[in-house]
Amino acid sequence: MDATPTLADPFTVSTRHWHRLDDGRVQCDVCPRACKLHEGQRGLCFVRARVDDQVVLTSYGRSSGFCVDPVEKKPLNHFLPGTSVLSFGTAGCNLGCRFCQNWDISKSREFDTLADAASPEGIAAAAQRLGCASVAFTYNDPVIFMEYAMDVADACHQRGIRAVAVTAGYMCAEPRREFYAHMDSANVDLKGFTEQFYARTCSGHLQPVLETLEYLRHETDVWLEITTLLIPGLNDADDELDAMTAWIAERLGPDVPLHFTAFHPDYKLRDRPPTPPETLTRARAVARANGLRFVYTGNVHDRAGGSTYCPGCAALLIERDWYRLGTYRVTRDGRCVDCGTRIAGVFAGAPGTWGPRRLPVRLHAPAGS
Ligand code: SF4
Repeated sequence: MDATPTLADPFTVSTRHWHRLDDGRVQCDVCPRACKLHEGQRGLCFVRARVDDQVVLTSYGRSSGFCVDPVEKKPLNHFLPGTSVLSFGTAGCNLGCRFCQNWDISKSREFDTLADAASPEGIAAAAQRLGCASVAFTYNDPVIFMEYAMDVADACHQRGIRAVAVTAGYMCAEPRREFYAHMDSANVDLKGFTEQFYARTCSGHLQPVLETLEYLRHETDVWLEITTLLIPGLNDADDELDAMTAWIAERLGPDVPLHFTAFHPDYKLRDRPPTPPETLTRARAVARANGLRFVYTGNVHDRAGGSTYCPGCAALLIERDWYRLGTYRVTRDGRCVDCGTRIAGVFAGAPGTWGPRRLPVRLHAPAGS
């Protein structure tokens, strides 16, 4: 277990979304968990704690590692297609998903996991040096290290690099407003569509996530895509998929891309089989029947389910096989080459040429530099 943090620790910084309770504890107001802390206690996310009578972040400038990925891997299919993104995370998480696919990071209680110390400016410089169009806060949820993520995003913007949040969207309204003012794009995990699933399988609640989705779609310019990991027997029933995709169509509109991805047995959920490809195809059909225009299957070879089609003339616009782009028929300003229909998303010039590569990288910038 990591030692009790102190404000003398260079990775520990003050935060502002918390308040004092009458019983002497302080409450963190970043996420709906509302951790109530005595001096020296950590929140459920592990990286926020009460130190010197205030809530601090203990992982500012510490990363669990960096990797250059295709942006399609986040997954984002309508955000600068074909470009590379510098991905990183820290440690900890504010949900407790039994199926977590990154549990070695999200459940880390050892800061040794945080191999790379990196200042916001160091990360932005590395992203530029590596030719990345964006930086993604991923592997674990940036909600819990929002102060660090926002500073990285600002440093990136200085160099013309965008910022991507990959998140479960489990956040309170005021910090959410502050956080997304710094982001350009988000992929939000909608883990299921019943309160029972969120409560039993994720130790959370559904409603705050729906509020984040509506906030992003209607009150910000952040480009939004949604991912749902389908787990056999837990969140893949036709009626649940129907209710979820009807809600997305009605409340968020038909242009929000939705990704269905395949589960692999992991962490505390090893008694379920991997998701059959037919389940992803079935889910995609349900979503399309409800009017969603851009529905994708992920983690499988599925040309139809991975590709983008024009909502105007049905032509194949962006062909994908896993993360490799093939045919590309979108104009530089994001229109169908054939009929001119505007394709929802962020398109800037020609597609990138990064391909499906995954390149782990080390940053050697000293913390705080
Ligand atoms: S961000 Fe962390 S400390 Fe704050 S309420 Fe959520 S889990 Fe608790």
